[in-house]
This record gives sequence, structure tokens and C-alpha cells, in this order.
Amino acid sequence: MELKNRSIIVTGASSGIGAAAALLFAAEGAHVVLGARRPAELESIAGQINRSNGRAVYLSGDVKDEGYADALVDLAMREFDGLDGAFNNAGMVGEMAPVADMGISNWNDVIAVNLTSAFLAAKAQIPALKKQGKGSIVFTSSFVGFSNGGMPGMGAYAASKAGLIGLAQSLASDHAADGIRVNALLPGGTITPSGGEGDPAALDFVAKLHPMKRMANAKEIAQAALFLLSDRSSFMTGSPMIVDGGMSVRLT
Ligand code: NAP
Repeated sequence: MELKNRSIIVTGASSGIGAAAALLFAAEGAHVVLGARRPAELESIAGQINRSNGRAVYLSGDVKDEGYADALVDLAMREFDGLDGAFNNAGMVGEMAPVADMGISNWNDVIAVNLTSAFLAAKAQIPALKKQGKGSIVFTSSFVGFSNGGMPGMGAYAASKAGLIGLAQSLASDHAADGIRVNALLPGGTITPSGGEGDPAALDFVAKLHPMKRMANAKEIAQAALFLLSDRSSFMTGSPMIVDGGMSVRLT
């Protein structure tokens, strides 16, 4: 029970890594507040947790909206009497194209969903964590934010994910004295809907880029998020934690 009775927000909880994290955190005793746009998927994940004697509530919305970040914190305060941590994980890949061919609307969307959302989330979450006197925030960055790894057409995505590392490090420095830790998690290719699930050729291409010659499953990444949210990582803050099957040390 690594997160017993901790109140944790998980965004991007309707599928993939976020859904796996919500289930894992709840199994580890957390009370989870689930966020994403699709209510039916959130209801399904929350239902699974509540039927297994866990505690989950959900609120659908768009992470681009400042009001949504605030509403998720309000829900945690109301339902679970406070906030102990957040896995700010929602993200999108967007159009894959060389930067010279990329439209500004794609750039703006990817930066808004992946990076500005993290700024809004942290602004909403920090005051609530300060009230507890401690807390942990985790952003889902990507190996692409650290080392491109041979993935073409990822300019906006890579910039947003590199930005999350910088944001985590600044927040870590701003709030270490408040007992709040902020880290970035950098997954390698992970089998999820936006990671190419259902497209065997794409999965095969990405798997072969990894020295381990496979992609992660969502639970392997959720386990790393669990570590960063739990007291087991109590001396980690401002860290870009790479969980990428060796992708970032690839030589070829
Ligand atoms: P996924 O299954 O497609 O999940 C993406 C999640 O983000 C969904 O729950 C989606 O929910 C939510 N989301 C997207 N746009 C949103 C918005 N505007 N507002 C609210 N929620 C939004 O993909 P995933 O692979 O688990 O992705 C999770 C995170 O891991 C992302 O940040 C992604 O960049 C990162 N990542 C993935 C990989 C990989 O290979 N899969 C590798 C490195 C990093 P709704 O559609 O219901 O809104």
C-alpha cells in the first residue's frame, strides 16, 4: 500500500498509461480523481476501482482549460479532504511532419495540451499541496523530450516534452522548501492507443528502435509513476526519470 489514503489526481485516465496508473494507484490505496475528455471511459475506469473497494471519482474536461485544472483540485478537496499528489499525464502526439511543413495550429495545439496544461495543473495543485505540507507532482514527458531516438517529424511534441522537464525542474526549485517534489517521467515507446496500438507495422518500427527490441506496456510506466508519487522517491525532485528500454543510450 504505497499510496494508502493519498488523494491523487490522474489526468489522461481514460486510456493507456493514465488508465493503468489509476488502477495501480487505487490498488496501492490511493483515492483517485480521474480526468480526461471522454466521460464514458472515465466512468468505466472509476467503476472498476469502486467495485474493487477502491475509491475513485471523475470529472471530464479539457486540460487546455484553466477552469478544468481548478475543478479537479476542488473535486479532490471535496471528496477526499485534500490533495497529496498528481500525475499530470494527458497528452497528444499531433501531426507528425518536419517542422518546415508543420502548421502553426498543430504547434499551438500540441504545446497547449502537453505543456501549458502542466503549467495550469501545477498552478491549481500547488496551493492544495502546500496545505498538506508535502506532496508529489509527476509530469509525463517522453524519451523524445530528451533524445530524439531516430523518430522523425516530432518537432512540436519533442519541444513540449522537453519543456515539461524544464517546468518540473523550476517547480522543484520553487517548492522544495514547501515539501513538494516535482519530477518528469520519460517513457519510451509504450503500447497504448496513441503509441500505435492496433497498428502492427508502427509497433514493430518503434519496438525495433529500442535496444530491448520491444515497447513497454502501460503498467510498466505506471509503476514508475507510482514510485515517483510514493515516499520511496523521497529524495528525488526535479529529476527527469527515463524509463525507455534503453532508447536514450541507443548507438545506431
Ligand atoms: P493514450 O492512451 O492515447 O492516452 C492519452 C490520454 O490523454 C487519454 O486519456 C486522453 O483522454 C487524454 N487527453 C488527450 N488530450 C486531452 C485533452 N485535451 N484534455 C484532456 N485529456 C486529454 O496515450 P498514452 O500513450 O497513454 O499517453 C499518455 C501520456 O504518455 C501522454 O502524455 C503521452 O505523450 C505520453 N507518452 C506516451 C508514449 C507512448 O509511446 N505511448 C511515450 C512517451 C510518452 P481523452 O481522449 O478522453 O481526452
